[in-house]
Amino acid sequence: MDLQLRDRVAVVTGGSVGIGLAVARGLAAEGAHLLLCARDEERLGAVAGDLRDEFGVRVVGVPADVATAAGAAAVADAAVQAYGGADILINNAGTGSEETILDADDARWYAYWDLHVMAAVRLARALAPSMKSRGGGVILHNASICASQPLGYEPIYNVTKAALVMFSKCLAEELIGDNIRVNAVNPGLVMTPDWEKTARALTEGTDTSWQDHLRQVARDNAPIGRFADPAEIANLFVFLCSPLASYCAGSTYYIDGGWLRTT
Ligand code: NDP
Repeated sequence: MDLQLRDRVAVVTGGSVGIGLAVARGLAAEGAHLLLCARDEERLGAVAGDLRDEFGVRVVGVPADVATAAGAAAVADAAVQAYGGADILINNAGTGSEETILDADDARWYAYWDLHVMAAVRLARALAPSMKSRGGGVILHNASICASQPLGYEPIYNVTKAALVMFSKCLAEELIGDNIRVNAVNPGLVMTPDWEKTARALTEGTDTSWQDHLRQVARDNAPIGRFADPAEIANLFVFLCSPLASYCAGSTYYIDGGWLRTT
């Protein structure tokens, strides 16, 4: 199936590893040119080079912290400079949290708000005008199943991801008249390096291996009984970027192996 993405320009935040990298790979495989950002410049540079070599597309790596206004501006400016703007924006950068509401201070709340919500606000404000002038575009928000089915140990993550989904809905209504389709994706358990790191820490010095720990997490939560591979999540993102998804707008798509406990 031709997803009609050849020579489109996609900005992917957090594109150096995990789901963001899988989405970047999926888009590059369809012939899209990329602008990837992340904070770790070395890892980003290596990934950008690999994608260029493997897929023969243009890949620009911008080391930036999208949780800051300056970082988001640097990403948008680089997209304008390299490509004259963007056709696709994937707001993916994010991370889990661990706290109690009573112990977490204001600074912690604001840090996650800046990363999960303000980055998306600022990048939409900066890049949607170029999408309008190119005749349309796609903006996707990588939220989480936790936006509507919270995990107890990460209230700030749950709340800021729920806000991101609502932002996505509001933005969708504002931009659909300009042929810009905005959607959110809510993944469940996805096997990325962060999970391995957490599992290693939790099982260190115990009789349980980190792999067994993660198998148990999957069995306890996802009816499918396993984590997703990032590529399985990326497939949905790439499809939603395609003109073939022309009626997908203003929605939230769950991809969670059956974990969401509602109909
Ligand atoms: P990873 O930790 O594997 O990757 C995160 C990416 O984001 C990296 O490229 C990282 O690079 C970048 N990043 C993090 N913070 C910033 C920042 N402030 N500015 C710029 N780049 C940043 O994450 P996942 O792939 O697991 O998750 C990606 C998204 O998917 C997140 O929003 C997460 O909440 C969501 N998600 C993940 C699930 C999972 O099970 N893995 C489930 C549901 C949702 P660097 O560190 O160099 O900045």
